[in-house]
Amino acid sequence: MDELDGNGAAGLLQEVFGAAMTVAVATCASCGSAAQPGESVLYAGGPGTVIRCRTCAGVLVVITGCGAGTAST
Ligand SMILES: [Zn+2]
Repeated sequence: MDELDGNGAAGLLQEVFGAAMTVAVATCASCGSAAQPGESVLYAGGPGTVIRCRTCAGVLVVITGCGAGTAST
């Protein structure tokens, strides 16, 4: 699966959270690293979109479609 820059998920994150998330900071639950989405790693080729921590590869966000909309975990 191809690794992309986290900025590639900006539109999808805005759709899910209802606001631009480009300046938001996510803290990784695995290693404690804090970074903006653009500094993370995006995998968009699977059955869902996965955003991983660039430091430890821990999962930050998973977004999948569920019929009428999208859901995130
Ligand atoms: Zn991490």
